Amino acid sequence: MNSGQLTFRHPEPERSRISLYPVFIPFAGCPYRCIYCSQQKQTGKAMAPSKLIAQELHASISAGFAKKGKQVSLGFFGGTFTAMPAEDQRILLDTARHLKEIGAVEHIRCSTRPDCIDEGTVEFLKDYQVDMVELGIQSFDDRVLSLSGRGYTGRQAHMAAANIQKHRLELGIQLMPGLPGSNTSTFIRDIEITASLKPAGVRIYPCLVLRNTPLALLWSRQTYQPWSLDKTLSVVSHAFLRLWRMDIPVIRAGLAPEGALLQQITAGPWHPALGSLCRGRALAYYVLNLLDRMDARIRRIYVPHKYQGDFWGHRKENAPLYLKKGIGIEQVEIWQSHLFRLVWQPVSFPSSQAAGPAPGKQSW
Ligand code: SF4
Repeated sequence: MNSGQLTFRHPEPERSRISLYPVFIPFAGCPYRCIYCSQQKQTGKAMAPSKLIAQELHASISAGFAKKGKQVSLGFFGGTFTAMPAEDQRILLDTARHLKEIGAVEHIRCSTRPDCIDEGTVEFLKDYQVDMVELGIQSFDDRVLSLSGRGYTGRQAHMAAANIQKHRLELGIQLMPGLPGSNTSTFIRDIEITASLKPAGVRIYPCLVLRNTPLALLWSRQTYQPWSLDKTLSVVSHAFLRLWRMDIPVIRAGLAPEGALLQQITAGPWHPALGSLCRGRALAYYVLNLLDRMDARIRRIYVPHKYQGDFWGHRKENAPLYLKKGIGIEQVEIWQSHLFRLVWQPVSFPSSQAAGPAPGKQSW
Protein backbone atom coordinates (compact mmCIF):
# COMPACT_ATOMS: atom_id res chain seq x y z
CA MET A 1 0.00 0.00 0.00
CA ASN A 2 1.31 3.43 -0.93
CA SER A 3 1.99 5.47 2.20
CA GLY A 4 4.34 8.06 3.59
CA GLN A 5 5.50 9.42 6.85
CA LEU A 6 6.28 12.76 8.31
CA THR A 7 8.49 13.18 11.35
CA PHE A 8 8.49 16.43 13.28
CA ARG A 9 9.54 17.96 16.57
CA HIS A 10 7.33 19.57 19.19
CA PRO A 11 7.00 23.12 17.85
CA GLU A 12 8.05 24.69 21.14
CA PRO A 13 11.61 26.02 20.96
CA GLU A 14 14.23 24.73 23.36
CA ARG A 15 14.53 26.77 26.49
CA SER A 16 16.78 26.82 29.48
CA ARG A 17 15.85 24.26 32.10
CA ILE A 18 17.86 26.00 34.80
CA SER A 19 15.73 26.73 37.88
CA LEU A 20 14.59 30.26 38.41
CA TYR A 21 15.19 31.80 41.83
CA PRO A 22 12.65 34.65 41.90
CA VAL A 23 13.07 37.57 44.26
CA PHE A 24 9.93 39.69 44.62
CA ILE A 25 10.30 43.39 45.30
CA PRO A 26 6.64 44.42 45.34
CA PHE A 27 6.02 47.90 43.90
CA ALA A 28 9.66 48.86 44.48
CA GLY A 29 10.50 51.75 42.17
CA CYS A 30 7.04 51.86 40.58
CA PRO A 31 6.23 55.48 39.72
CA TYR A 32 2.57 54.75 40.52
CA ARG A 33 0.27 51.78 40.76
CA CYS A 34 -1.11 50.53 37.48
CA ILE A 35 -4.87 50.18 37.46
CA TYR A 36 -4.87 46.37 37.53
CA CYS A 37 -1.94 45.80 39.87
CA SER A 38 -1.96 44.48 43.41
CA GLN A 39 1.59 43.17 43.76
CA GLN A 40 1.66 42.87 47.54
CA LYS A 41 -1.55 40.85 47.53
CA GLN A 42 -0.36 38.76 44.59
CA THR A 43 2.94 37.82 46.18
CA GLY A 44 1.76 38.00 49.78
CA LYS A 45 4.85 40.04 50.56
CA ALA A 46 5.73 43.62 51.38
CA MET A 47 9.06 45.01 50.25
CA ALA A 48 11.79 44.34 52.82
CA PRO A 49 14.91 46.53 53.06
CA SER A 50 17.31 45.78 50.19
CA LYS A 51 20.13 44.80 52.55
CA LEU A 52 17.91 42.18 54.15
CA ILE A 53 16.76 40.85 50.76
CA ALA A 54 20.39 40.67 49.62
CA GLN A 55 21.49 38.82 52.75
CA GLU A 56 18.64 36.32 52.47
CA LEU A 57 19.11 35.58 48.80
CA HIS A 58 22.86 35.25 49.25
CA ALA A 59 22.48 32.83 52.14
CA SER A 60 19.83 30.76 50.38
CA ILE A 61 21.47 30.52 46.96
CA SER A 62 25.00 29.90 48.24
CA ALA A 63 23.74 27.22 50.66
CA GLY A 64 21.86 25.48 47.83
CA PHE A 65 24.92 25.66 45.62
CA ALA A 66 27.22 24.29 48.34
CA LYS A 67 24.83 21.39 48.97
CA LYS A 68 23.80 20.38 45.46
CA GLY A 69 26.22 22.23 43.20
CA LYS A 70 23.27 23.42 41.09
CA GLN A 71 23.29 26.86 39.51
CA VAL A 72 20.18 29.01 39.41
CA SER A 73 18.86 31.85 37.34
CA LEU A 74 18.25 34.83 39.62
CA GLY A 75 15.40 37.18 38.75
CA PHE A 76 14.11 40.36 40.39
CA PHE A 77 10.38 40.72 39.77
CA GLY A 78 7.29 42.48 41.03
CA GLY A 79 8.36 46.10 40.81
CA THR A 80 10.23 48.50 38.55
CA PHE A 81 13.80 47.48 39.25
CA THR A 82 15.55 50.22 37.29
CA ALA A 83 13.50 52.95 38.99
CA MET A 84 14.44 51.87 42.52
CA PRO A 85 16.86 54.16 44.33
CA ALA A 86 20.31 53.57 42.83
CA GLU A 87 21.72 52.44 46.19
CA ASP A 88 19.07 49.68 46.47
CA GLN A 89 19.84 48.51 42.95
CA ARG A 90 23.56 48.41 43.78
CA ILE A 91 23.03 46.39 46.95
CA LEU A 92 20.99 43.75 45.13
CA LEU A 93 23.13 43.65 42.00
CA ASP A 94 26.39 43.51 43.96
CA THR A 95 25.12 40.37 45.65
CA ALA A 96 23.85 38.93 42.37
CA ARG A 97 27.17 39.60 40.63
CA HIS A 98 29.11 38.06 43.51
CA LEU A 99 26.96 34.91 43.32
CA LYS A 100 27.61 34.79 39.60
CA GLU A 101 31.35 35.13 40.11
CA ILE A 102 31.42 32.19 42.53
CA GLY A 103 29.37 30.12 40.06
CA ALA A 104 26.17 29.81 42.11
CA VAL A 105 24.16 31.98 39.70
CA GLU A 106 24.28 31.43 35.97
CA HIS A 107 21.93 34.12 34.77
CA ILE A 108 20.62 37.40 36.20
CA ARG A 109 17.45 39.17 35.10
CA CYS A 110 15.26 41.98 36.29
CA SER A 111 11.89 43.33 35.22
CA THR A 112 11.04 46.94 34.58
CA ARG A 113 8.78 49.30 32.65
CA PRO A 114 9.57 50.61 29.15
CA ASP A 115 9.62 54.22 30.42
CA CYS A 116 12.18 53.41 33.12
CA ILE A 117 15.05 52.33 30.94
CA ASP A 118 17.55 54.31 28.87
CA GLU A 119 21.12 53.97 27.62
CA GLY A 120 22.63 54.80 31.02
CA THR A 121 20.40 52.27 32.79
CA VAL A 122 21.34 49.52 30.37
CA GLU A 123 25.05 50.27 30.80
CA PHE A 124 24.60 50.18 34.56
CA LEU A 125 22.93 46.76 34.39
CA LYS A 126 25.65 45.44 32.10
CA ASP A 127 28.32 46.53 34.59
CA TYR A 128 26.64 44.23 37.10
CA GLN A 129 26.56 41.33 34.62
CA VAL A 130 22.79 41.36 34.25
CA ASP A 131 21.89 39.09 31.31
CA MET A 132 18.27 39.86 30.65
CA VAL A 133 15.77 42.67 31.08
CA GLU A 134 12.09 41.78 31.04
CA LEU A 135 9.95 44.68 29.94
CA GLY A 136 6.41 44.88 31.25
CA ILE A 137 5.11 46.27 27.97
CA GLN A 138 1.58 44.81 28.31
CA SER A 139 0.53 46.21 24.91
CA PHE A 140 1.98 48.22 22.04
CA ASP A 141 -1.40 49.77 21.32
CA ASP A 142 -1.54 53.47 22.28
CA ARG A 143 -5.25 53.42 23.05
CA VAL A 144 -4.96 50.37 25.29
CA LEU A 145 -1.95 51.89 27.05
CA SER A 146 -3.76 55.16 27.55
CA LEU A 147 -7.01 53.57 28.81
CA SER A 148 -4.94 51.44 31.17
CA GLY A 149 -3.02 54.45 32.46
CA ARG A 150 0.37 52.97 31.66
CA GLY A 151 1.97 56.32 30.90
CA TYR A 152 3.97 55.50 27.76
CA THR A 153 3.25 54.89 24.10
CA GLY A 154 3.71 51.87 21.90
CA ARG A 155 6.59 53.65 20.19
CA GLN A 156 8.36 54.20 23.52
CA ALA A 157 7.89 50.53 24.35
CA HIS A 158 9.34 49.57 20.99
CA MET A 159 12.33 51.87 21.49
CA ALA A 160 12.99 50.54 25.00
CA ALA A 161 13.05 47.00 23.62
CA ALA A 162 15.42 48.01 20.82
CA ASN A 163 17.68 49.78 23.32
CA ILE A 164 18.07 46.62 25.39
CA GLN A 165 18.88 44.55 22.33
CA LYS A 166 21.28 47.18 20.97
CA HIS A 167 23.37 46.68 24.08
CA ARG A 168 23.29 42.93 23.61
CA LEU A 169 21.21 42.16 26.64
CA GLU A 170 18.53 39.50 26.30
CA LEU A 171 15.07 40.97 25.99
CA GLY A 172 12.01 39.55 27.71
CA ILE A 173 8.54 40.89 26.89
CA GLN A 174 5.51 40.69 29.15
CA LEU A 175 2.10 41.16 27.54
CA MET A 176 -1.33 41.52 29.11
CA PRO A 177 -4.23 40.64 26.80
CA GLY A 178 -7.63 41.86 27.98
CA LEU A 179 -6.66 45.31 29.27
CA PRO A 180 -9.25 48.09 28.82
CA GLY A 181 -9.61 48.86 25.11
CA SER A 182 -7.96 45.64 23.97
CA ASN A 183 -9.53 43.07 21.70
CA THR A 184 -8.39 40.13 19.60
CA SER A 185 -7.05 42.44 16.88
CA THR A 186 -4.95 44.58 19.23
CA PHE A 187 -3.52 41.44 20.82
CA ILE A 188 -2.70 39.85 17.45
CA ARG A 189 -0.89 43.07 16.58
CA ASP A 190 0.94 42.96 19.91
CA ILE A 191 2.08 39.43 19.16
CA GLU A 192 3.18 40.36 15.65
CA ILE A 193 5.26 43.29 16.96
CA THR A 194 6.67 41.06 19.69
CA ALA A 195 7.56 38.39 17.13
CA SER A 196 9.31 41.00 14.98
CA LEU A 197 11.49 41.99 17.94
CA LYS A 198 12.58 38.36 18.46
CA PRO A 199 12.82 38.52 22.26
CA ALA A 200 14.53 35.74 24.21
CA GLY A 201 11.25 34.99 25.96
CA VAL A 202 7.66 36.16 26.39
CA ARG A 203 5.32 36.06 29.38
CA ILE A 204 1.59 36.42 28.83
CA TYR A 205 -0.53 37.46 31.79
CA PRO A 206 -4.21 37.78 30.81
CA CYS A 207 -5.72 40.71 32.66
CA LEU A 208 -7.55 39.81 35.87
CA VAL A 209 -9.69 42.05 38.05
CA LEU A 210 -8.11 42.06 41.50
CA ARG A 211 -9.85 43.34 44.60
CA ASN A 212 -9.25 46.96 45.64
CA THR A 213 -7.70 48.08 42.37
CA PRO A 214 -8.93 50.89 40.14
CA LEU A 215 -9.77 48.22 37.56
CA ALA A 216 -12.10 46.55 40.07
CA LEU A 217 -13.91 49.87 40.38
CA LEU A 218 -14.29 50.14 36.59
CA TRP A 219 -15.56 46.57 36.51
CA SER A 220 -18.10 47.24 39.29
CA ARG A 221 -19.37 50.26 37.32
CA GLN A 222 -19.59 48.04 34.24
CA THR A 223 -17.24 50.26 32.26
CA TYR A 224 -14.73 47.41 31.96
CA GLN A 225 -15.44 43.84 30.96
CA PRO A 226 -12.65 41.25 31.25
CA TRP A 227 -12.10 38.64 28.56
CA SER A 228 -13.83 35.32 29.03
CA LEU A 229 -11.69 32.26 29.78
CA ASP A 230 -12.73 30.64 26.48
CA LYS A 231 -11.69 33.62 24.41
CA THR A 232 -8.44 33.97 26.36
CA LEU A 233 -7.54 30.31 25.91
CA SER A 234 -8.20 30.40 22.20
CA VAL A 235 -6.36 33.66 21.49
CA VAL A 236 -3.41 32.97 23.79
CA SER A 237 -2.97 29.43 22.43
CA HIS A 238 -2.72 30.83 18.92
CA ALA A 239 -0.22 33.36 20.24
CA PHE A 240 1.89 30.50 21.66
CA LEU A 241 2.03 28.85 18.26
CA ARG A 242 2.80 32.08 16.45
CA LEU A 243 5.71 32.78 18.81
CA TRP A 244 6.96 29.19 18.70
CA ARG A 245 7.05 29.37 14.91
CA MET A 246 9.38 32.35 15.28
CA ASP A 247 11.55 30.31 17.68
CA ILE A 248 10.47 32.45 20.63
CA PRO A 249 9.75 30.60 23.88
CA VAL A 250 6.75 31.49 26.00
CA ILE A 251 8.20 31.45 29.49
CA ARG A 252 4.88 31.62 31.29
CA ALA A 253 1.17 32.26 30.75
CA GLY A 254 -1.09 33.24 33.63
CA LEU A 255 -0.23 34.31 37.14
CA ALA A 256 1.08 31.74 39.58
CA PRO A 257 -1.36 31.16 42.45
CA GLU A 258 1.02 32.63 45.02
CA GLY A 259 0.33 34.56 48.20
CA ALA A 260 -3.29 35.52 48.54
CA LEU A 261 -3.88 35.88 44.81
CA LEU A 262 -6.85 33.53 44.61
CA GLN A 263 -8.79 35.47 47.22
CA GLN A 264 -8.06 38.69 45.34
CA ILE A 265 -9.48 37.63 41.99
CA THR A 266 -12.82 39.31 41.49
CA ALA A 267 -13.31 38.59 37.79
CA GLY A 268 -11.39 37.63 34.70
CA PRO A 269 -10.00 34.61 32.85
CA TRP A 270 -8.36 32.73 35.71
CA HIS A 271 -7.34 29.08 35.43
CA PRO A 272 -4.66 27.44 37.60
CA ALA A 273 -3.20 25.58 34.60
CA LEU A 274 -3.63 28.26 31.95
CA GLY A 275 -0.09 27.79 30.62
CA SER A 276 -0.35 24.04 30.15
CA LEU A 277 -3.82 24.39 28.63
CA CYS A 278 -2.42 26.80 26.06
CA ARG A 279 0.60 24.57 25.39
CA GLY A 280 -1.71 21.64 24.69
CA ARG A 281 -3.99 23.63 22.41
CA ALA A 282 -1.06 25.18 20.56
CA LEU A 283 0.35 21.73 19.86
CA ALA A 284 -3.09 20.56 18.65
CA TYR A 285 -3.35 23.59 16.32
CA TYR A 286 0.09 22.72 14.96
CA VAL A 287 -0.80 19.08 14.32
CA LEU A 288 -4.20 19.99 12.84
CA ASN A 289 -2.54 22.49 10.57
CA LEU A 290 -0.22 19.77 9.26
CA LEU A 291 -3.20 17.48 8.72
CA ASP A 292 -5.13 20.20 6.90
CA ARG A 293 -2.32 20.51 4.43
CA MET A 294 -2.28 16.80 3.64
CA ASP A 295 -4.77 15.14 1.40
CA ALA A 296 -4.23 11.94 3.27
CA ARG A 297 -5.71 9.44 5.64
CA ILE A 298 -3.73 9.11 8.85
CA ARG A 299 -2.96 5.51 9.62
CA ARG A 300 -0.97 6.14 12.76
CA ILE A 301 0.51 8.94 14.79
CA TYR A 302 3.45 8.30 17.10
CA VAL A 303 3.57 10.67 20.05
CA PRO A 304 6.58 11.08 22.35
CA HIS A 305 5.87 9.82 25.85
CA LYS A 306 6.90 13.13 27.41
CA TYR A 307 4.46 15.08 25.21
CA GLN A 308 1.39 12.88 25.52
CA GLY A 309 -0.13 15.33 28.04
CA ASP A 310 0.31 18.22 25.60
CA PHE A 311 -0.96 16.13 22.71
CA TRP A 312 -4.26 15.18 24.35
CA GLY A 313 -4.59 18.48 26.20
CA HIS A 314 -6.20 19.22 29.55
CA ARG A 315 -8.74 16.48 30.33
CA LYS A 316 -8.26 15.17 26.79
CA GLU A 317 -9.91 18.29 25.36
CA ASN A 318 -7.99 17.91 22.08
CA ALA A 319 -9.41 14.43 21.37
CA PRO A 320 -12.57 15.68 19.56
CA LEU A 321 -10.41 17.95 17.37
CA TYR A 322 -8.28 15.00 16.25
CA LEU A 323 -11.34 12.84 15.77
CA LYS A 324 -12.70 15.32 13.23
CA LYS A 325 -9.55 14.59 11.22
CA GLY A 326 -10.08 10.86 11.53
CA ILE A 327 -7.59 10.33 14.35
CA GLY A 328 -9.06 8.28 17.15
CA ILE A 329 -7.27 6.82 20.13
CA GLU A 330 -6.57 3.62 18.16
CA GLN A 331 -4.38 5.52 15.71
CA VAL A 332 -2.21 7.02 18.43
CA GLU A 333 0.85 5.24 19.71
CA ILE A 334 2.98 6.60 22.52
CA TRP A 335 6.68 5.96 22.00
CA GLN A 336 9.97 6.85 23.64
CA SER A 337 11.39 9.00 20.83
CA HIS A 338 11.44 12.79 21.28
CA LEU A 339 9.93 13.15 17.78
CA PHE A 340 6.37 12.85 16.51
CA ARG A 341 5.63 10.78 13.43
CA LEU A 342 2.59 10.75 11.17
CA VAL A 343 2.14 7.69 8.99
CA TRP A 344 -0.28 8.47 6.23
CA GLN A 345 -1.86 7.12 3.15
CA PRO A 346 -2.64 9.46 0.29
CA VAL A 347 -6.24 9.89 -0.75
CA SER A 348 -5.43 11.73 -3.95
CA PHE A 349 -2.52 13.48 -5.67
CA PRO A 350 -0.02 10.93 -4.38
CA SER A 351 2.93 12.42 -6.25
CA SER A 352 2.56 15.96 -4.85
CA GLN A 353 2.24 14.57 -1.34
CA ALA A 354 5.03 12.05 -1.61
CA ALA A 355 7.42 14.02 0.54
CA GLY A 356 4.70 15.05 3.01
CA PRO A 357 4.03 18.65 3.95
CA ALA A 358 6.80 20.86 5.20
CA PRO A 359 6.03 22.50 8.52
CA GLY A 360 5.35 25.91 7.15
CA LYS A 361 4.72 29.49 7.99
CA GLN A 362 1.05 29.58 8.72
CA SER A 363 -0.39 32.82 9.87
CA TRP A 364 -2.91 32.73 12.65
S1 SF4 B 1 4.82 48.78 37.08
FE1 SF4 B 1 4.32 46.62 37.41
S2 SF4 B 1 4.63 46.23 39.59
FE2 SF4 B 1 4.57 48.45 39.31
S3 SF4 B 1 2.45 49.03 39.68
FE3 SF4 B 1 2.62 48.70 37.49
S4 SF4 B 1 2.12 46.55 37.15
FE4 SF4 B 1 2.49 46.82 39.36
